[in-house]
Amino acid sequence: MPQLRKDLTSRTWVIIASERGKRPHDFKVATDEKKGEGNCPFCPGHEQETPPEVLAMGRGERTADTPGWSVRVVPNKFPALSGQSDEPSFGDGPLVQKNGIGAHEVIVESADHNSTFGTHSQEQMEQILSAMISRVKQLRADERLQYVQLFKNAGRIAGASLEHTHCQLVATPIIPPKAQEELQCGHFYYEQHNRCVWCDIINKAHEHGRIVEASAHFAVLCPFASRVPYQVLILPSRHDGEFDSLTGEEIKDLAGILKRLVRRLEIAFNFPPYNLQWHISPLQGPGQYDQYFHWHLELLPRLTIAAGFELGSGIYINPTAPELAAQELREVKIDATTGI
Ligand SMILES: [Zn+2]
Ligand SMILES: [Zn+2]
Ligand SMILES: [Zn+2]
Repeated sequence: MPQLRKDLTSRTWVIIASERGKRPHDFKVATDEKKGEGNCPFCPGHEQETPPEVLAMGRGERTADTPGWSVRVVPNKFPALSGQSDEPSFGDGPLVQKNGIGAHEVIVESADHNSTFGTHSQEQMEQILSAMISRVKQLRADERLQYVQLFKNAGRIAGASLEHTHCQLVATPIIPPKAQEELQCGHFYYEQHNRCVWCDIINKAHEHGRIVEASAHFAVLCPFASRVPYQVLILPSRHDGEFDSLTGEEIKDLAGILKRLVRRLEIAFNFPPYNLQWHISPLQGPGQYDQYFHWHLELLPRLTIAAGFELGSGIYINPTAPELAAQELREVKIDATTGI
């Protein structure tokens, strides 16, 4: 029987149409045709085709904006927001405008055009996460910036316009509505239960068999009210609001668990498009959300297309119960030695 489930962290409702029981082979995923490395602005040797780098990682000495990097962060050539804006802010009457100060950066994950989150080496993945943490710390120092949204669009359907593997970040002078909503939901739950909703989400996932993998410091799970098939949450088991407070050991652990999760999806769905989002505390006033907010990653595979009912009502229909999705993902075989 279909069930209506509520997501307490976003107040959205989901219909789990579990009698449809859709498994990986039931989804027809259009795999992108690879165009290759020719004329790719993110490949080594093409550094002059991007704005000057703001951060690069790798071994040994090198001159900025030349090859030899392993992770490279550059401002987006067509930024949604940037460091300069002369536009005025106003908010009286029916029109509200805020000066469009911010940042929009691309994190080129690897010098290898064809590598992916699932096939990067463990060390490569650690460097990507370290680069992100370093950018969050740097942007936090600018008091005008309120939030950094880190995200990855994998595949054309998920919004990636360049195929060379990359993540992005957009720093905004406001706290985005989705982040506000999660903070409010977390606060509301804390007031009612005196506990963190995400800590409870981990505990319930263990009880209900919705854990995909649990490591020393992280839990990967399919949430109770998954909006789309094979939706996954990655939560640190240590309650903390700040992504950039991860220890070296936790970064290593997250790199491994994230890589294995994406590899499971790549094997099960033959490199499906997906969106991965970092949900972290606002930048300013560190510590003030820590009691009730718990940072996490949300991965949304793009296997289905939201249609009229979803767009009109805000209620999602999910044909794969998260209990089944977690089991399917757990059973995907990854080579233990290569991680591939
Ligand atoms: Zn490339
Ligand atoms: Zn928590
Ligand atoms: Zn979230």
